Amino acid sequence: MLRLLSVWQKKMKKDRLNTFLTLQGQTNQSPYLIDVDKAEGIYIWDKTGKKYIDMIAGVAVNNIGHRHPKVIEAIQNQLDKHLHVMVYGEYVQDAQLALAENLASILPDSLSCSYIVNSGTEANEAAIKLAKRYTARQEIISCKNSYHGSTHGSLSVTGNKEKQSSFKPLLPNVQFIEFNNIESLNVITEKTACVIIETIQGDAGLIKPTPDFITALRAKCSSTGALLIFDEVQVGMGRTGKFFAFEHYNVIPDILTLGKALGGGMPIGAFISSKEIMHSLTHNPMLGHITTFGGHPINCAAANACINVLRVENWMVEAEQKGQLLEDILTQSPEIKEIRRAGLFLAIELESADKVAEVVNKCLEKGLIGFWFLSTPTAFRLSPPLSITEVEIREAGEIVLKCI
Ligand code: PLP
Repeated sequence: MLRLLSVWQKKMKKDRLNTFLTLQGQTNQSPYLIDVDKAEGIYIWDKTGKKYIDMIAGVAVNNIGHRHPKVIEAIQNQLDKHLHVMVYGEYVQDAQLALAENLASILPDSLSCSYIVNSGTEANEAAIKLAKRYTARQEIISCKNSYHGSTHGSLSVTGNKEKQSSFKPLLPNVQFIEFNNIESLNVITEKTACVIIETIQGDAGLIKPTPDFITALRAKCSSTGALLIFDEVQVGMGRTGKFFAFEHYNVIPDILTLGKALGGGMPIGAFISSKEIMHSLTHNPMLGHITTFGGHPINCAAANACINVLRVENWMVEAEQKGQLLEDILTQSPEIKEIRRAGLFLAIELESADKVAEVVNKCLEKGLIGFWFLSTPTAFRLSPPLSITEVEIREAGEIVLKCI
């Protein structure tokens, strides 16, 4: 993967590259280094004028495309009114109020009360705290190969031993079960505060729950009083063809967490529950979760616009058929071992991690952005904006085929 650096080094001005690599904190030794000039719809342009098809949508963020005009308009309108005025939950603010109403209108009645935060990981931190507070229990259950975020609490419930190893001690009383293993649900007991699970596992390489598993999980949580948390930070907001992935399974969580695409390109997260459960953050002691910038009015305005766009466009309805089209095109390659897919989220399994690196790098050279998975080195992801057209899917599919 270090090869990437040398290819792009040649293109980027030396002092600019140097500033990026030395003055900006890095988290890996071979960053993508696309030198971004602008982005619009499904495209990103670099400083040389090269155009990329963004087939990952900023890692499942730009579900309605980059700079959707309705999002820009909502941000501009909010800019003219006010920016930050107070920590979340104290003042009544139009954008927050509208977002709470908007979310309640697309969610079941038992998920009517939302708390807006800054990111997906904060949403999960707060959801776990809420479950501990409400149940007065301490044990937490999560799944192997899961990803729930990078802060200490979320990392504690992330089922990736390698990623956890150098940050111990993490949260105690966390057990990991096998996703889709019904027998493993026996570890859920009257001592369990919550089970946190991605409705569809993303960074595990896109693993869908079996209907039996998710139904049994719901039943076990209900019978033991453990709260069920669905983390839809990555698969929510239309990615799978419905606003929320749990809608495919007829199972409703006690707490839902969102992030990424919710903000239409702005940073946001949310944990959502019933009024009764959420109320437990207000006492014994009060201020059970506090956030200064959570629910920032600009981000809430953008999120409102994003939900409204998804309501009126046909993109969620089309996600399944567009995803199937991309799958059908890619299936032509004998090099592909397996394609796992939910709506417009695809994991393409190849024979080795080296082959994945080769294909992803070649795609970049040819102007198409794909991306890795955290826990699945032998697969890469494609999760384009839902606004992508069939013509663009064919074009993208051909590029990926050629690169493979
Ligand atoms: N949960 C899931 C399922 C995710 O995929 C991610 C990010 O990739 C997170 C939580 C963390 O979100 P954030 O990066 O906004 O903190």
